[in-house]
Amino acid sequence: MHSIRSVYKIGNGPSSSHTVGPYRAAKYFSERYPEADAWKVTLFGSLAFTGQGHGTMKAIRTALPDAEVLFDLKTPEKELPHPNTMLFEAKKGGEELGRCRIFSIGGGSIRVEGEASDEELEVYPQSSFSEISALCKQRYLNLPQFVYRMEDDSIRRKLTEIWHAMEDTVRRGLAAEGVLPGGLGVARKAKLLYETRCYNESSDVTMNRVIAAYAYAVSEENADEHLVVTAPTCGSCGVLPAVLYYMQYDRGFPEEEIIDALAVAGLIGNVIRTNASISGAEAGCQAEIGSAASMAAAALAELHGLNIDQIEYAAEIAMEHSLGLTCDPVKGLVQIPCIERNAVAAMRAISAVNLSQFLFATRKISFDDVVATMYRTGLDMDEKYRETSHGGLATIYSNQ
Ligand code: SF4
Repeated sequence: MHSIRSVYKIGNGPSSSHTVGPYRAAKYFSERYPEADAWKVTLFGSLAFTGQGHGTMKAIRTALPDAEVLFDLKTPEKELPHPNTMLFEAKKGGEELGRCRIFSIGGGSIRVEGEASDEELEVYPQSSFSEISALCKQRYLNLPQFVYRMEDDSIRRKLTEIWHAMEDTVRRGLAAEGVLPGGLGVARKAKLLYETRCYNESSDVTMNRVIAAYAYAVSEENADEHLVVTAPTCGSCGVLPAVLYYMQYDRGFPEEEIIDALAVAGLIGNVIRTNASISGAEAGCQAEIGSAASMAAAALAELHGLNIDQIEYAAEIAMEHSLGLTCDPVKGLVQIPCIERNAVAAMRAISAVNLSQFLFATRKISFDDVVATMYRTGLDMDEKYRETSHGGLATIYSNQ
């Protein structure tokens, strides 16, 4: 497996595979042809269907040097090597200098056709949770210790930088008001949720509302195309920061423990992206929100001092009950159902930890099994439920 750094990327929303990935692809390609005076970019599959709402063209334009850019959208293409495929062409004086197909494979990562992955070298010889768990038990390591042994010395510093970026996003989102861009008229709700005081509500209700407010804060910042951290994607970036922010600022957990929890969540996200997918265009929303819920559940379980089996079970429950979740963003924007979905997933992570704490000894399904099931289910999903806005809520809304 790669470094857990590949799970957490800082970039502008609203979609890691539709803005962060295409931005990085355009930068990579333009550096190959600095003499080009015109570019043609053909977007295929999900990028063509939802690129407009997700801001793909804007992200690509920002990355390419000042020159003419022609876009072509090829929505009916079948048999693509990846649902998020881009063809870049560089020209000078009307003559083609070169072309290259690049795939946006999820979470802001890209793969250039015919070249090795853009990610760093393999860091972990293990690729499944069962291998990691067996090694940790054999060597008496907890999961954060395992991460710190396998990664280079700068990993804690990197995770701290990631956490501070997540905290900034929560704070910005809680302070912001107004209507999100894109024409749906969706008003920001994080501040309202956070400030609404209801003195006769139970502490559980307060906890859920506060965590939902944090998830809304981050997801609304993402929908507003502001800076966020993928966890593991932009569309699902509100789940993990919501529970961690709550644990630090409402429950008083120290920052060092939050960083350890971030390491555990990164490991879970890494196992999913290695063995399945974190891309909504490839495997539906279960791959984005389901993965984020698993990461958040594992992080919370780590903070509560649960053992490796309990942490695994928490992550498994969170994914198991996201199975089959389709990606059907209304108008191709990362707003409905995405923002609310982040809040609900953060609350589901808490329930998963509560169950895992007591029931882990009777569990039948491993985390690796649920990850494999999620991927198979995603590949079986009709294309209209994989980030095309041609199914589910997206079509119901446009029919109204
Ligand atoms: S529905 Fe889920 S996968 Fe699709 S854009 Fe929204 S958050 Fe991402």
